[in-house]
Amino acid sequence: MGMEILRRLGITPRRVFSGRGVKPHLSLFFNDVDGIERIFGIDTTPFSKKMVEPDSYLITHAHSDHYGKYAMSSKLSVASEETAIALDLLHGREFKGATFRVGESFLIGETEISTFHTGHTIGSSAYLWETECGVRILVTGDVKEYRVLPSCDLLVTEANYGDPSDSTCYFEENSKDFLEIAGGGEVVFGAYAFGKAQRAVKMLRNSGFEDPIGMSQKSLNLTRSLLKESGNLVGLSDDADVWIVPPHELSGIERSNRFVLTCRSDYHYYPAIHLSDHMDVRGLVAMVKHCQPEVTLLYHPRGDRPKKLADHLLSEELCAAIAAEEIPPTTLSKK
Ligand SMILES: [Zn+2]
Repeated sequence: MGMEILRRLGITPRRVFSGRGVKPHLSLFFNDVDGIERIFGIDTTPFSKKMVEPDSYLITHAHSDHYGKYAMSSKLSVASEETAIALDLLHGREFKGATFRVGESFLIGETEISTFHTGHTIGSSAYLWETECGVRILVTGDVKEYRVLPSCDLLVTEANYGDPSDSTCYFEENSKDFLEIAGGGEVVFGAYAFGKAQRAVKMLRNSGFEDPIGMSQKSLNLTRSLLKESGNLVGLSDDADVWIVPPHELSGIERSNRFVLTCRSDYHYYPAIHLSDHMDVRGLVAMVKHCQPEVTLLYHPRGDRPKKLADHLLSEELCAAIAAEEIPPTTLSKK
């Protein structure tokens, strides 16, 4: 049913073969306000030269599973200013595409794209545009805060914690514990260098914590470059009671109080404090209710959660829904 509705709306989602299987994520084909067919890649790796050229590669944020590392070399790519900075720092080369400020609009051809914060990482952005027939397409990437997102006809979104039958897809944040432990003396927190580390520093500063925070080099560079009012950040050779390092570095740190900031249930090496860059399944369903789409396309992550959430949205009669993996892959060879 989802594919039929997409056909009626004049939108064709495609997943394309690459040399080594299927390219991640998808591309959307639609007619723009002048009736010209346009192709937007959504968090995908660039097409090969043998394929048709899309009009744009939309990058929602700088996490590696959204493939900005590969798309950043293309002049057709679009990302927020902060996402471009994060990609530069993470991969040590320059973002070649166009940038925008989240909250502002820009044009691709005659198509006006509006952008919205999603609260997932610094610079993470959702994209909204209209087709020839006035159909509103909203692409979110990963989402932490859905309330500023607009209504739409097609919602293209994530299902990281999208399985309603899995107890690990329900969680509460534990920010109180985090702040208490941080205020209690020498401690080290494991947090991914891009995303979670900036969230942790921001929470500490917002709570009034003014002491120096020690970070390993990559986290330090990213946080200094991306987070306004990040306060006194120092390296690990300097004096600081609170340290934040990537989780894989925790084992090499000689501090007895070690925690990891995560809502993932598969992390058992150190005690976890529940802080997430995502919403749980209740948040995902609330976002769909908020955006009121006719059809939802769950495009991320790999695995069965997109399909599980699609089935749930259908059974709850919230909207038609399909998972990207249900779309048969095609080739996009030039004619
Ligand atoms: Zn992400």
